[in-house]
Amino acid sequence: MAKTGNEIRESFLKYFESKGHTRVASSSLIPKDDPTLLFTNAGMVQFKNAFLGLENRGYTRAATCQKCARAGGKHNDLENVGVTARHHTFFEMLGNFSFGDYFKEEAIAWAWEYLIDVVKLPKEKLWITIYEDDNEAFEIWNKKMKVPADRIVRMGEKSNFWIMGETGPCGPCSEILYDQGKDTGCGRPECDVHCDCDRHLEIWNNVFTQFDRDENGNLNPLARPSIDTGMGLERLTAVIQGVKSNYDTDLFTPIIRFVEKTAGITYGQNTENDVSIRVIADHSRAVTFLIGDGITPSNEGRGYVLRRILRRAARHGKLLGINKPFLNQSAQVVIDMMKGVYPDLVEKASFITKMILNEEQRFMETLDAGLRILNDETAALKKAKKSVLPGALVFKLYDTYGFPTDLTADIVRHDGFTLDNEGFEAEMEQQRERARGAWKGSGEEAISECYLKASSSGIVSEFCGYDGVIKSDAKVLAVFVDGKPADSALEGQKAEIILDTTTFYGESGGQTGDTGYLEGASFKFMVVDTKKPIDKFIVHKGKVLKGEIKAGAKAQLIIDEERRKAIAANHSGTHVLQASLKAVLGDHIKQSGSQVNEKGLRFDFTHFSKISDDEMKRIEEIANDMIRKNVDVKTEVCALEDALKTGATAVFDEKYGATVRIVKMGEMSMELCGGTHVKRTGDIGLLKVLHESAIAAGVRRIEAVTGKEALAHVQKAEEELKRTAALFKSGQMEVYDRAEKLQKQTRELERELEAMKGKLAARDSGDLMGQAREIGGVKVLAVEVSIVDVKTLRDFGDKLRDKMGSGIILLGSKAGEKAMLLCMVTKDLTGKYHAGNIIKELAPLIGGSGGGRPDMAQAGGTQPENLGKVFPVLEKLLTK
Ligand code: ATP
Ligand code: MG
Repeated sequence: MAKTGNEIRESFLKYFESKGHTRVASSSLIPKDDPTLLFTNAGMVQFKNAFLGLENRGYTRAATCQKCARAGGKHNDLENVGVTARHHTFFEMLGNFSFGDYFKEEAIAWAWEYLIDVVKLPKEKLWITIYEDDNEAFEIWNKKMKVPADRIVRMGEKSNFWIMGETGPCGPCSEILYDQGKDTGCGRPECDVHCDCDRHLEIWNNVFTQFDRDENGNLNPLARPSIDTGMGLERLTAVIQGVKSNYDTDLFTPIIRFVEKTAGITYGQNTENDVSIRVIADHSRAVTFLIGDGITPSNEGRGYVLRRILRRAARHGKLLGINKPFLNQSAQVVIDMMKGVYPDLVEKASFITKMILNEEQRFMETLDAGLRILNDETAALKKAKKSVLPGALVFKLYDTYGFPTDLTADIVRHDGFTLDNEGFEAEMEQQRERARGAWKGSGEEAISECYLKASSSGIVSEFCGYDGVIKSDAKVLAVFVDGKPADSALEGQKAEIILDTTTFYGESGGQTGDTGYLEGASFKFMVVDTKKPIDKFIVHKGKVLKGEIKAGAKAQLIIDEERRKAIAANHSGTHVLQASLKAVLGDHIKQSGSQVNEKGLRFDFTHFSKISDDEMKRIEEIANDMIRKNVDVKTEVCALEDALKTGATAVFDEKYGATVRIVKMGEMSMELCGGTHVKRTGDIGLLKVLHESAIAAGVRRIEAVTGKEALAHVQKAEEELKRTAALFKSGQMEVYDRAEKLQKQTRELERELEAMKGKLAARDSGDLMGQAREIGGVKVLAVEVSIVDVKTLRDFGDKLRDKMGSGIILLGSKAGEKAMLLCMVTKDLTGKYHAGNIIKELAPLIGGSGGGRPDMAQAGGTQPENLGKVFPVLEKLLTK
C-alpha cells in the first residue's frame, strides 16, 4: 500500500487513470491566463476555461497533482503557517475533474473507494459535510456509501457552496474530514466538525458545479454539470502515515532534519523553536517552487510575496541562532526531495539557490540593524505602557531596512504589540506622492489624457507594416497640437497624427518607433518618432514641413527604410542572442527587458554569474553561426494557448492578447513577439557583443551591435590597433608584447629614478646641514627646498633628521599654486617641542592648515608667495 508521500501522489493519479481520467501535468504557480489571480491556488485553475466550456482539451476527465500557493490574494494561509499543523504557503493539491462528463454519484463513489479501499483509511474516523440543501448528496453518501446519517453534517453557504465569481458556474460541495482524536486540536469537550482547530482535518473537498448564477442571483441548472475536487497531498499523507502534523510526514522531515543540523537543536523540544523550524521548512519549499516557476524577489506583486516569505524564513533562522545564509541549502534539500516529480527543478537548481543566497545576503545586511532599532523602540513603548507600533517606525523598517510589514508584525506579536497600519499607509501614500511629484512636468500626463479621450471616442488604427514600408492610402483620423485635439496643424507646427492604418511601427516591446514622412496633396509631415500610447492606436510625432495637415486627409507613408532595416536586424539579433545564451548558459535564461533601435541592442536576462570570456566567445560564435545559416524568419499568428503549447519563449508576466505572433528562426529560436524582423537571419550580417554587466541581483545586460554598426565597430577597433601599432613601431599582432615590454621598461626607469632622487637628496642634505642655526639652545634647520612630491619631501626630512642627531627641521616648498611645510622634531626634544603644534601655528601663514604627531607634521596651503614669512615666525615661536 502507498505509504510515502511520493507513493501516495502516484497512487491517486493511477487510481483516477483507471477510471478513465487523463493524467495532466501541474501548471505553473503563475496562472497563465488569469491576471486577476496572484498564484495558482487550486487544481481547477488551469481548467477554468474547460469548465466554462470555452476550451476543448480533448478529454473530459482529468486528474492532477497541482502545485499551489496560498500566500497572498484571496487565499492567504501565510499567518497560519507554523501555527497550525495543516496549512502551508506551498502545497500540492490532488484533484479529479469532470468537464460535463460524470457527476455527483461517481465523484462520491470514487472518492470513497480511493480512501477506504486504496489507501485504507478507517471508515469510523471519517466525517462528511454537505451543503444544507443538497439532499442528492446526502442520499448518495447515506444510501449508496452507507455512511451513517449522523456522520453527514449539513453546512451553510459559506463553507459548502462554491462560486467562481459573482455570476457563472457554482454549486454545492461536500468535504471529507478525518477525526484525529480528542488529543489533537483545541481539546474542548464540545469540539466537533464545525470547529476550526486541527482535530477534524479537512482532507478532501468535492465541488459539484451544477448551476449557473445570473445577475439576479438565480441559480439556473447547467445542462452538463461538472466535478472539481481538491485534496491536500500533505494532509492525506499525514493521515495515512498516522502522524498528527503534516510536518511529521516524509514530505517535510528531511528539511526539518537539515534545519536541526544547521541550528544545532532538536525539533519537538521547545514550542517556540518548533514554530520557527516549521516556518523554515514550509517557506523553503515555497521559495524553491516560486523561483522555479520564474518569480524573482521584487517590491511588488508576486515578487513581493516571495520576498516576504524568504525574509520571514531568514528571520526565523536568526531566531534559531543561525547567523549565516542557509536557505539556499535548505532549498537544495527540497530540490533533492522533489526532483523525481518535478524534474525541471534539476536544471533550475543552481539558479534557484543562487537567487535565494543573494536575497538572503542582502537582507542579512540590514536585518541586525533593523532588529536593534525595533528592540529599542519596543522597550521604550513598553515603558510608556503603549502597545501600538507607530506607523512611521513601521515605514522606516520597511523602507530602509527591508522589513515587510507582516514580518514586523510577526516579530512584535509575541510581545503583544500591534502595528499602526493606518499610520504606515499614510507614510506610504506620502512616498507615492513624492514619486509622482518626480514624474510631473514630463508632459506625459496631459498627453495621455487626450489619448484616453481619443480612445473612448472610438479611434482605432491598424499596423500593417510587417511586410512593406511604403503605403499610399492612409487616412488622417486625428491631429493633436500641444496635447489637445485640433482640426489641423500648420507649417512649422509640431503635431501628433493618428492614421487609420500605418506602416510606422509604434514603440513597443522594447523596439523603437519608426521615423520618416507623411505626404499628402497639400502637406509634408516629418515623423521623428512613433509611439503606441494605447494598445488601440499608433501616434506619429513630428512637425509639419509644408502646408497644412488636416483630419480626413489622405496621406502617403514613407519610412526611413535604412533605419528600419537596421532596427529589424537588431531586433532579430536579440532573438538570436537569446537562443545562443540559452545554448551556452542554460535554460534558466529568461528575458527581463530589451531595447532595440537603429544603433544597437540591449538585452537583459536572468543569470547569476558574470559571463566569462570563453562563454562570451561561444555565445558570439553560436549567434553568428545562426546568422550564417541564413534560415528564413517565419512569423505566424495564432491563439496564445497554442503558441505556449509549442514551447515558444514568452516574456515573464508580459500581457499578451488572445492571439499572438510567433517569430521563428529555424530550430533554435521561437519567441512570442510583435516586432519587425529581417527576412532571413543572414540579413543580420554580423552580431558583435560590446559589453556585459550586472544591472540588478540576478539580472545581467548585454549590449551588442549588428550589421553595419557591427562592421563599423570592428573597423574602429582595428583603426585603434593600427594607430597604436604605428606608435609602437610594431606589427598589429605584436602590439600586446610591445606594450608589455614598454611597461616593464617604464617600471625599471621609475625604480632607477627613485634611487637617483634618494642619492641626490642625501648629497643635498649634507650641503644643507651647514645652514642649521642655534635658536634658544636648539639646533634648527629651516630652509626652502625644491621638492614637489610629499613622499620625497618626507624621505628627505628623515635623512636630515638622521644627520642632525638632535634638533628641529622645517622644510618649505612650492609647486605651482601650492605650498607645503614639513616639520620634524628629533625624539629627544619631543618632550619640549611638538611638531604638530608648530605646524598648526605656521600653516595659516601659507593659507592652509595641517597638523601631525609630536615628531612629524605637515601642512599644505595655497599661498606659496608667503613661504618666506614662515621662517622668522618659527624663530619667534622657538624663543618664546
Ligand atoms: P481549510 O479550511 O483547512 O483552510 P480550505 O477550505 O481552504 O481548507 P479548499 O480550498 O477546499 O481548502 O482546498 C482543498 C484542499 O486543499 C483541502 O481540503 C486541503 O486538503 C488542501 N488545502 C487547502 N489549503 C491548504 C493549505 N494552506 N496547505 C495545505 N493544504 C491545503
Ligand atoms: Mg483555507
